[in-house]
Amino acid sequence: MSTGTAAEAAAREAAAKEGGRDFLRDIVEADVKAGRVKEVVTRFPPEPNGYLHIGHAKSICLNFGIAEEFGGRCHLRFDDTNPTKEEQEFIDAIEADVRWLGFDWGKHLYHASDYFGPLYEWAVHLIKAGKAYVDDTPLEEMRQMRGTLTEPGRPSKFRNRSVEENLDLFRRMRAGEFPNGARVLRAKIDLAAGNMNLRDPVLYRILHAAHPRTGDKWCIYPTYDFAHGQSDAIEHVTHSICTLEFEDHRPLYDWLIENLPVPSRPRQYEFARLNLAYTVLSKRVLTKLVAEGHVSGWDDPRMPTLAGLRRRGVPPAAIREFARRIGVARANSLVEMAIFEHPVRELLNKIALRRMAVLRPLKVVIENYPEGRTEQLEAVNNPEDPSAGTRRVRFGRELFVERDDFMENPPKKFFRLSPGKEVRLRYAYFIKCREAVKNAAGEVVELRCTYDPATRGGNAPDGRKVQATLHWVAAADAVPAEVRLYETLFKTPDPAAADDIFAELNPNSLEVLTDCRIEPALVGGNSREAVQFERQGYFCLDPDSAPGKPVYNRTIGLRDTWAKEKAKGG
Ligand code: ATP
Ligand code: MG
Repeated sequence: MSTGTAAEAAAREAAAKEGGRDFLRDIVEADVKAGRVKEVVTRFPPEPNGYLHIGHAKSICLNFGIAEEFGGRCHLRFDDTNPTKEEQEFIDAIEADVRWLGFDWGKHLYHASDYFGPLYEWAVHLIKAGKAYVDDTPLEEMRQMRGTLTEPGRPSKFRNRSVEENLDLFRRMRAGEFPNGARVLRAKIDLAAGNMNLRDPVLYRILHAAHPRTGDKWCIYPTYDFAHGQSDAIEHVTHSICTLEFEDHRPLYDWLIENLPVPSRPRQYEFARLNLAYTVLSKRVLTKLVAEGHVSGWDDPRMPTLAGLRRRGVPPAAIREFARRIGVARANSLVEMAIFEHPVRELLNKIALRRMAVLRPLKVVIENYPEGRTEQLEAVNNPEDPSAGTRRVRFGRELFVERDDFMENPPKKFFRLSPGKEVRLRYAYFIKCREAVKNAAGEVVELRCTYDPATRGGNAPDGRKVQATLHWVAAADAVPAEVRLYETLFKTPDPAAADDIFAELNPNSLEVLTDCRIEPALVGGNSREAVQFERQGYFCLDPDSAPGKPVYNRTIGLRDTWAKEKAKGG
């Protein structure tokens, strides 16, 4: 992959931040100003052979965003020309995901398969004009005959078939007289063209396969190149925006539009696809991850799919903001994970209710707190948002704290609990550790502590300070929960560059904690609401939750740990 320099990336980001401007918006604006385009029409054209991912989100935000900004419209068009890989499940998921991301195609939902009729007629048109022919050359041989960048292609012996013979054979291809792969329809352009796509590209292939929408009506299907531009023309798309791999296809796109009686003149523009560090945005690889069970499904929270990000708790607004910040350019680059995480954290910080949850519980007994007594203390729901109000949390003699918040023999800078050390329990009291109780194996199983009743609310009247504030839950009403912690799916920044992508999978990408304790305010609230577990990160309820058995996903940790991890070489 050619990588843009850091300076380029910074310039791009600055430009994007300034006015949301980019070279595509400049082109559209110029077209509108010059009167070349009256209504801006874009489209997002997924092939329904998988779920949408964060790279698609970039394209969706771009296409729907431009249409919105210029008062035009954006179509959702299923590029469903290959019935062997496409499924209704994917069609439904794509629609749901585009809506979830916040975009609306209104009545403009289309399918390339709706155009099989006109596409067939246009193929006939090319044959009649002597610009297309039926070729019986076996595919492998045809590939070899196309030549190389330095050698021109060689003509097939079928290249000069008569118009009549071509018409007859093409009609019979459609009628189902020939098996898969027996013949194709090719455009007759230029076998010596420097651009390989112009060396008589295939327009139609035989495929005896039922299509989810057209059933058994067709057994020949148009190629991407033949379907795409013509679909754009039928829909009066003005700016057909795609990723850079299609740059070399543009001359063919234009040739077809020029040589067919299509109802409008769309133009293709290319931008750099999104590549995100520590993940893979290739449907082929994502499909394999699902099929081979490396993840639990397309919506596994580790997946870069929109379904996965949704399940993980990433708000759609954060994805839109991410797309805005990365901007659009023509240089491929690998976007740092931190660039994605920043807007997620920023947004969640504003909206997430704060709650207390202990992920690896260690029991604390407050020896001087009366047996059987409990009390309610006031806790702030979101310091960033006073309107979120407060809640009451129960305090009692038996509590849970985080196992990591205790060390029997602490190093110098460990300010949390250890024998003799005093800390603050958030919203509650100062407590002091007297003794750690161990089991037969020598493991600490309980802390015996005392509390200072004068420090209710978290401050000492004598002004004495503590160096740590810990989260906790009361044993009396804490709810058992499962918490799933996620790391990146791959252990290296650019797994797509590796020889074996699957060898780059991160074995620690999922950690399941089954014995967590969460405060009861978490149960029964709006289930999909984002929450912050104090000191731990942002979490959301997973659909695997059952009554009385909540399961939480960690959306993201509290701070950017990337810089730190890298410095450690981890
Ligand atoms: P396939 O390999 O199946 O063609 P694809 O990722 O190109 O996979 P499409 O369904 O054809 O999938 O993509 C729909 C649209 O999304 C296309 O216009 C494509 O250019 C765009 N797109 C796909 N991947 C990315 C990406 N990583 N970044 C930006 N846009 C993307
Ligand atoms: Mg594609």
